[in-house]
Amino acid sequence: VNGSLKDILNAQGFRSTKERDRILHELEARTDHFNAETLHASILQKGSSVSRPTIYRTLHLLEALHCLEKLYLKKNCYFYEPLSQKNEHGHLICRGCGRITDFWVEGFEILKSEMARNTDFKMNKISIQVFGLCGACQAEDKHRNERW
Ligand SMILES: [Zn+2]
Ligand SMILES: [Zn+2]
Repeated sequence: VNGSLKDILNAQGFRSTKERDRILHELEARTDHFNAETLHASILQKGSSVSRPTIYRTLHLLEALHCLEKLYLKKNCYFYEPLSQKNEHGHLICRGCGRITDFWVEGFEILKSEMARNTDFKMNKISIQVFGLCGACQAEDKHRNERW
């Protein structure tokens, strides 16, 4: 994605609004994973206000324009991540605290070349999600139950 999110939206004929600009500003500062609720919370925390419907609409729009990627964890549970300069990576998802951590392994390339050799499926992306408990949650309580 080249240019600012605002430029991209303007180029598509979307008029900028104060609320949307706040959201774009917040998004451009982020490199981590988020969803509409955590985004809303962090904008509020900085003393700005923005309505939930505007957040949902804006995220949906950016997703449609391929500026954001939406990743599903399970029904009604998803997160977004900026389609920035990050290489292809997998996600470690903690079922105790919900934290999502990126990881990179050489395995992606190996998997791709294996697939290319063994199937006629044309891949464009590999998504690997690993579920479990993060180090902090393990340390906190060895018997802690996974919440979901
Ligand atoms: Zn955790
Ligand atoms: Zn990620």
